[in-house]
Amino acid sequence: MPGSRMYLSPPHATDEDVAAVVAALRSGWLAPVGPDLREFETRAAAVTGRQHAVALSSGTAALQLSLKYVGIQPGDHVLIPTLTFGATAFAVCYLGAVPVFVDVDDSWNMDAASVEAILDSWPSGLPMPVAAIPVDLYGAPADYDSLLPILVKHSVAVIEDAAEGLGATHVQGPLGSFGRAAALSFNGNKIITTSGGGMVVTDDEEMAAKIRFWATQSREPLPWYEHEEVGFNFRLSNVLAALGRSQLNRLSREVEKRRQIRLWYQERLEEIDGVEIQMDPTWGRSNAWLTVARFSTERYPNAPHRIIEALEKFDIESRYLWKPMHQQPVFRDNRAHLTGRADRLFRECVCLPSGTLMSKDDVDRVTTIIRSVIDD
Ligand SMILES: *Cc1c(COP(=O)(O)O)cnc(C)c1O
Repeated sequence: MPGSRMYLSPPHATDEDVAAVVAALRSGWLAPVGPDLREFETRAAAVTGRQHAVALSSGTAALQLSLKYVGIQPGDHVLIPTLTFGATAFAVCYLGAVPVFVDVDDSWNMDAASVEAILDSWPSGLPMPVAAIPVDLYGAPADYDSLLPILVKHSVAVIEDAAEGLGATHVQGPLGSFGRAAALSFNGNKIITTSGGGMVVTDDEEMAAKIRFWATQSREPLPWYEHEEVGFNFRLSNVLAALGRSQLNRLSREVEKRRQIRLWYQERLEEIDGVEIQMDPTWGRSNAWLTVARFSTERYPNAPHRIIEALEKFDIESRYLWKPMHQQPVFRDNRAHLTGRADRLFRECVCLPSGTLMSKDDVDRVTTIIRSVIDD
């Protein structure tokens, strides 16, 4: 990234990445077809334990087309955790469907008890939710052992939003391997980037083929442009796939480094009373995409605001947690099942700089500033 600013999670390209992109350019495969795309898809499928993958222009597009494939219709209800990035909810809206928000558990992911409560108390006059999108927040696996049986029991289709979770694992398998399909993101600040891009990974061959077809403008296999369905221009370019393919080669190193950064933060911050770091749930291993620190409101009122402002004075970027969807003006009328956990996390948490190039000294700089703020 230009300048000396310390960013939250800046993309970085190695000499190898640059060489891979240049080679793709020289190869003449500049379109959304080519050997790098195929290889990127094959490797991403392998990393997520899936049979098929379709590279797309964004993770949001991956969610949208996955939902479309499982048959989401206008007016349908889709369960999502309230604590997530807006894209999870927007993808539901693109299909004319309605996101329904459930609160989070102690792993900060979709709470199985809240899912059960909302399904069991669903008004009889209203069509039941037909799909759910558990999110692996900041790279931590959701509690699939608890979630999946409930969702299966109610015939709710599951699409995993693994946009933040690539390289992390649940005891049952890698993130990206849960549900009918999973959406990955390669946006600029994610753990692996194509500067912008996404992917659907699935074991369903027909689903992969259909999504590939829709994403290439629903072109029928005829010598002229024939369309039986409305299409989308959602495919990733081969040049960007070359970048993704090169970045994917070092995914496990990226994960180990991010976990190391989180550990450095933990050593510096967790000795302070009332401060904790989001760590791995008992059922899996996070990729620690972002380190998130939590400051108890009782001890440190308004800590996120004060910390973000103080870090900004030193040209260090930090952020609030995702603002819960049920608090968003655009979703003020949507149904929700809330326990107060997401609201509390939003009030208490700060996402700290977690870029792979950070050193222990960088972490020390950040934590020294944080300590000076909360010791005030
Ligand atoms: C980044 C992100 C997305 C969207 O991915 P894009 O590639 O930016 O479209 C979806 N869900 C979550 C949880 C994300 O963090």
